Amino acid sequence: MSSAISAVRRLQFCSGHRVYKHESKCAHLHGHNYVVFLHAQMAASLRESRGGLGLDELGRVIDFAVLKDRFAPWIENNWDHGFILWEQDAEAIAALSHMSDQKLFLLDANPTAENMALHLLNVVAPVVLAGSAVELTRVVLWETENCIVEVGR
Ligand SMILES: [Zn+2]
Repeated sequence: MSSAISAVRRLQFCSGHRVYKHESKCAHLHGHNYVVFLHAQMAASLRESRGGLGLDELGRVIDFAVLKDRFAPWIENNWDHGFILWEQDAEAIAALSHMSDQKLFLLDANPTAENMALHLLNVVAPVVLAGSAVELTRVVLWETENCIVEVGR
């Protein structure tokens, strides 16, 4: 069991998507103003040598600005003001490919909030946090104010 302290950075982005083969309206191309909460903890291997709480010399998990600097460029470059589609959604990919210069991100799973949060946790975080003292332990993604997913390790 871990009693480590988490630092949480909130970021916002706007993206279009559709949920391929959704039974109802989410099958249509549409978008959301997403809000993501990124929960970071000091890596377990470092925590033990620092008294167990997982704080640096200044008493922080990590500077909040560092979390923004690591994640915001990835989100801006890949998801913000772009479309996120499942790489198997050939119909929507073909439709958007007719547009010149349309920003498109192909996800290896249907772009539900759950799969987007998992992508941030398992694929993006290990890359953008490489070389830092922290690891991402939890992602909370708001698709709307009422529809929220949480994934963690
Ligand atoms: Zn949606």
